[in-house]
Amino acid sequence: MTGTGTLTNWAGNITYTAKELHRPHSVEGVRALVAGSGKVRVLGSGHSFNEIAEPGSEGVLLSLAALPTAVEVDTAARTVRVGGGVRYAELAATVHRHGLALPNMASLPHISVAGSVATGTHGSGDANGPLASAVREVELVTADGETAVIGRDDLRFAGAVTSLGALGVVTALTLDLEPGFEVEQYVHVGLPLAGLDHAAVAATAYSVSLFTDWREPRFNHVWIKRRTDQPLPHFPWAPPAAEAVHPVPGMPAENCTQQFGVPGPWHERLPHFRAEFTPSSGAELQSEYLLPRPHALEALHALDGIRDVIAPVLQICEVRTVAADEQWLSPSYGRDTVALHFTWIDDAPAVLPVVSRVEAALDPFGPRPHWGKVFTAASAVLRERYPRLGEFRVLADSLDPTGKFRNAFVRDVLGG
Ligand SMILES: Cc1cc2nc3c(=O)[nH]c(=O)nc-3n(C[C@H](O)[C@H](O)[C@H](O)COP(=O)(O)OP(=O)(O)OC[C@H]3O[C@@H](n4cnc5c(N)ncnc54)[C@H](O)[C@@H]3O)c2cc1C
Repeated sequence: MTGTGTLTNWAGNITYTAKELHRPHSVEGVRALVAGSGKVRVLGSGHSFNEIAEPGSEGVLLSLAALPTAVEVDTAARTVRVGGGVRYAELAATVHRHGLALPNMASLPHISVAGSVATGTHGSGDANGPLASAVREVELVTADGETAVIGRDDLRFAGAVTSLGALGVVTALTLDLEPGFEVEQYVHVGLPLAGLDHAAVAATAYSVSLFTDWREPRFNHVWIKRRTDQPLPHFPWAPPAAEAVHPVPGMPAENCTQQFGVPGPWHERLPHFRAEFTPSSGAELQSEYLLPRPHALEALHALDGIRDVIAPVLQICEVRTVAADEQWLSPSYGRDTVALHFTWIDDAPAVLPVVSRVEAALDPFGPRPHWGKVFTAASAVLRERYPRLGEFRVLADSLDPTGKFRNAFVRDVLGG
């Protein structure tokens, strides 16, 4: 056990006020700590940009980084059981060694699996659900220090994966795997917004990302990730890049996964950023909104309408697609979505008013904010946007009747 000193999130914009940080070495240690504490939150790899992990000054933070790094692959069943503190980089390397694959990854492999699925983290691809859709079973230490195992056949499952850390400490997850596959990555540059057929562009390959700095009504890059067992992409709308690029203007391309169509294993192409380098720009804030995919083009034009407000505080905006899933608190719950992401400069006073302007511009399309990023939407608005929030609250009350895992962020979302 230690005090938290000046423990911050990855971006450095949140300093945790928790009175203690614990790093238990065993699940038994987790159970004892939870049973003996009043307020608890788990800190994953700390890559969220808001106070979602903050337990408050009377609470304790629990890091699972010192638990044994469990990654147990069952090749016959094509599943993997992964410990609550493990990051995607470790998980993916082990799964790959067994000739198997995860269906998708986020832009970076540095993030913890449990923390990622808790916030609805996603990659891109018309047919790819959020990362939580690979989860088939959750093992939790609940408020009384007991263990609960919630699998897909359990009625509580739809609330149990994308759970904002509000149900207990996730000590292990079991995920579905598929046979290993290879991916080639191609980048095209200078795609105009005028005349964009977003649905056709997004359907070009397994995973597609468009990047714009909104300085012009065009996309600086389109990143296309093609599975080699799927057809070659046809991309007539913009020329190929002449050199390797980084999504953020001015950042080195060597931080990024290989481009120019060089085939490679799924886990070395699906993320944009390589595990051994700082992802993204490193000095930034992020926001993201997921809205029904049929509104993609209208929403992009709405953003274009406030381009002069966005561009001065923006490093890069990424447009991805995510398939619908069934987690009650997933930003893709029940609808195929387009995800509009913003990497802002690291200047909260300058960025926050622009975040509100973006939310106002997207409001007609019913956007759901990414739980791990900066947003200003009021709780009443969130409750409208998440039709199953009431059921989630009942589930949280049943597993955590005294609100041990309910911090200010979660109270805000659930309305008390
Ligand atoms: C550079 C960068 C790039 C990013 N790219 C993407 C992207 O491509 N796609 C995307 O969707 N998001 C992206 N994100 C956001 C990121 O995926 C989320 O913030 C995610 O939650 C990070 O996981 P974490 O382990 O750091 O979570 P934390 O921020 O540590 O925690 C998030 C939540 O999960 C809870 N939690 C963590 N572990 C456990 C556990 N074992 N048991 C119970 N609760 C737990 C915490 O209490 C908290 O509520 C990016 C973030 C950064 C910094």
